[in-house]
Amino acid sequence: MNITILGAGAMGSLFGGLLAESGQNVTLLDINDAHLEAIGRQGLRLETDRGDRRVGGLTACRPEQAQGQPDLLLVFTKAQHTDRALSAIAGHIAGHTRVLTLQNGLGNAETLCRHVAREQVLVGMTNWPADMAGPAHVRSHGQGAVRILALDGRERQDTAQVAAALDAAGLNCSVDREVWVAIWEKVAFNAALNTLCAVTGCTVGQLDGAPEGLALARAIVLEVVSVARAQGIAADAQHCLDSVAFAVAEHRTHKPSMLQDILAGRSTEITSINGEVLARAREAGIAVPHTETLLGLLRLIEARAAAGIAP
Ligand code: NAD
Repeated sequence: MNITILGAGAMGSLFGGLLAESGQNVTLLDINDAHLEAIGRQGLRLETDRGDRRVGGLTACRPEQAQGQPDLLLVFTKAQHTDRALSAIAGHIAGHTRVLTLQNGLGNAETLCRHVAREQVLVGMTNWPADMAGPAHVRSHGQGAVRILALDGRERQDTAQVAAALDAAGLNCSVDREVWVAIWEKVAFNAALNTLCAVTGCTVGQLDGAPEGLALARAIVLEVVSVARAQGIAADAQHCLDSVAFAVAEHRTHKPSMLQDILAGRSTEITSINGEVLARAREAGIAVPHTETLLGLLRLIEARAAAGIAP
């Protein structure tokens, strides 16, 4: 398969590197010149449970330098950058190109549909973890899985082929008719933990420093699950709460990417997480006061950062 990764940060580089190792023809597109230049010079360094090695044979360039029309375009920019990134490669998306988003949050499929036909869009969820350790250097420890489905909900040959390619790269990928349950449950998890850490500066483990931390996380999870259920999605509150409790107990020193973005003065994915939940809650006539408050607080922090004012 010819596979292009749009947004080759932590996740895009991990997936691109593993797909290249499994024999696929992979192009990484990004706007981080230091990262691209280092990959071109020394290959991509992957540190995973399979070992610490360099992956060669990848093409890494800026979107405007893209060549050809891939069979699979895997979108791994942060949600707020997808529109601009896709606009830059409009001429490289053919009718046969399948476009897969594994981004966190909601509304990502709708963004893709502004650029390609609905039948080309595949959606999914992954819980593989990844962090950038430096230019051309990605770290990912622990196990994860990927679940995907065509946006039209049908089990199709093209979706099965994409799942097979990801699975052959060791990414534990399957086609899942219940993918929206997985997507919403991850949204509930992120709406609670990412935002609370981003606002307070706490690591995940520090959220149990006061009883209010876990009580707030619980309240947000219950709000998001109530919105999912109003949309006919059978998200399971206890499953989300168990994931939150596991993360607080086991990933104590982890700084969620939303906190990392705040600390670096970057924009966050708050609109595609809490913002999208609030929009759907309003449509359904459901109050989500905790989710809405966290959205407002994050917007204030982002506005301060955009004005160039340090915390
Ligand atoms: P990241 O910030 O490490 O990578 C995003 C990349 O997109 C960056 O390298 C950035 O330079 C690039 N980019 C920005 N604008 C671009 C443009 N116009 N054209 C091309 N590239 C552009 O983020 P990440 O952690 O890899 O996350 C990517 C997505 O995956 C997010 O939606 C995130 O929520 C989701 N996700 C992350 C993890 C994780 O553990 N990191 C796990 C599951 C899902």
